[in-house]
Amino acid sequence: MHYHRDYWETKAQQMAFPSYAIIDGTRVQATSGASYANRSAIDQSILCHIPDCDSRDIHKAVNAARDSFNSGCWSALAPAKRKKVLLKLAALITAHAEELALLETLDMGKPITDSLSVDIPSSANAIAWHAEAIDKLYDEIAPCSGDELGLITREPLGVVAAIVPWNFPLNMACWKLGPALATGNSVVLKPSEKSPLTAIKLTELALEAGIPPGVLNVVTGYGQAAGEPLVRHMDVDGLVFTGSTPVGKHLLSLAGQTNMKRTFVECGGKSANIVFADAEDLDLAAKTAAAAIFYNQGEVCTAGSRLLVEASIADEFIDKVISAAAAFAPKHPLDPNCSMGAIVDEQQFVRIQNYINDAQEQGATLAHTLSAAAPSNGYYIPPTILTGVTPDMRIAQQEVFGPVLSCITFTSDAEALAIANDTPFGLAAGVWTQNLKRAHKVAKGLRAGSVWVNNYFGGDMTAPFGGFKQSGNGRDKSLHAMEKYTELKATWINLA
Ligand code: NAD
Repeated sequence: MHYHRDYWETKAQQMAFPSYAIIDGTRVQATSGASYANRSAIDQSILCHIPDCDSRDIHKAVNAARDSFNSGCWSALAPAKRKKVLLKLAALITAHAEELALLETLDMGKPITDSLSVDIPSSANAIAWHAEAIDKLYDEIAPCSGDELGLITREPLGVVAAIVPWNFPLNMACWKLGPALATGNSVVLKPSEKSPLTAIKLTELALEAGIPPGVLNVVTGYGQAAGEPLVRHMDVDGLVFTGSTPVGKHLLSLAGQTNMKRTFVECGGKSANIVFADAEDLDLAAKTAAAAIFYNQGEVCTAGSRLLVEASIADEFIDKVISAAAAFAPKHPLDPNCSMGAIVDEQQFVRIQNYINDAQEQGATLAHTLSAAAPSNGYYIPPTILTGVTPDMRIAQQEVFGPVLSCITFTSDAEALAIANDTPFGLAAGVWTQNLKRAHKVAKGLRAGSVWVNNYFGGDMTAPFGGFKQSGNGRDKSLHAMEKYTELKATWINLA
């Protein structure tokens, strides 16, 4: 289908927004009766009011999850049966693709075409992939003597809390829910207060698919009021989080102070995209370098926010990146030709602007910024490219989470590696070269969970995803993700 902006605007006007929490299969408001205004990132208009949940709601949701887990209605099902239900959920996500895409774009401002063609299909795929895998995994028998039998089995953790961010709201939720539900856990999902709508809709679709009430609950609200009681809860067995590094660190310490719940945090990044002079196709490398930082308004944990370019080609290459950046001039997010939409809210907008100003005060040059032709009521930032950045500047060390590219030059492989690794983060990196040895050596030397050679953002559900250093622990995607959601049990049987 060929979409027009009018189509989406009409659909948005007719939309019934899901504005409730879902606990034990029932739509509920906050126990306190409190709610908050959920605004559209596109123009800051109020879409609906969302329950402002607190510890009482969390307690109810955890109890519902615990009861459903203990009942065995999901946890004790044959994997093939869980698979069937989860595949139905994946099919329902696909069937509701337009509605989910629109909710996502209205809520957090990303281009509708990206929501529809990337976020929603990859969310359905995350559920389907783990569903497909679960009835093909075998446990182990230890190599023991004939007088004993050693069983090594994986069991679900129990009640899992999933706390997710606003930049890929549905996708991040599905990266967690796919393996969590496939392995038989019951889940309490807490979306970001900035983008709760697709998580609520997803939970409704899960019920429709046949996931029993209580197995997937969604509680809405703010990090402090709704997130923290979930993290502190003594009856939550596992916590999976995607969000910022400061919050991730805080959650790890809260888990340690309470019941030592298994805690996995996927956090921020300051990824280096390294372009050597011997890259095969500098035009492709430049286009990809622009997409690496400007896709999703730069609100991507793996954004290639540091362009490390070999000094001998720096001027020529940065000019090519500037030209490629034009494709990302902000437009109305419901315009199907939009490649860069709205910044999620004022708080994020101010944060990004402060970083741009600060970098210039520290000596960086604003090489290029295009004027924004986007709705006046939202927060839009054009593609921003800073040259003359040195590795010690704040802009080169801290995560901006916006469409701001810092260009740094280098003159040797060793220098490129040293700069690339010189941040507290270790999420991802890109390497552009035709030299096979250099590609392997640099890839090996990078302290990052994902390394992309002659591409950026490569990989699919088969590749584990996560960070070294302060980008987090644990891995999402691939069969490795299941390790986070299961305990390993050794059962030793005396046969003598
Ligand atoms: P954030 O840390 O502010 O919030 C993430 C979630 O945590 C939200 O649901 C929020 O309500 C909740 N939260 C906040 N404070 C809390 C507290 N004290 N207790 C419990 N919950 C709390 O992050 P954000 O601004 O929503 O997302 C952006 C960040 O996410 C960036 O740093 C980005 O790099 C990171 N991210 C990482 C990955 C990854 O896979 N590594 C993917 C996407 C985003």
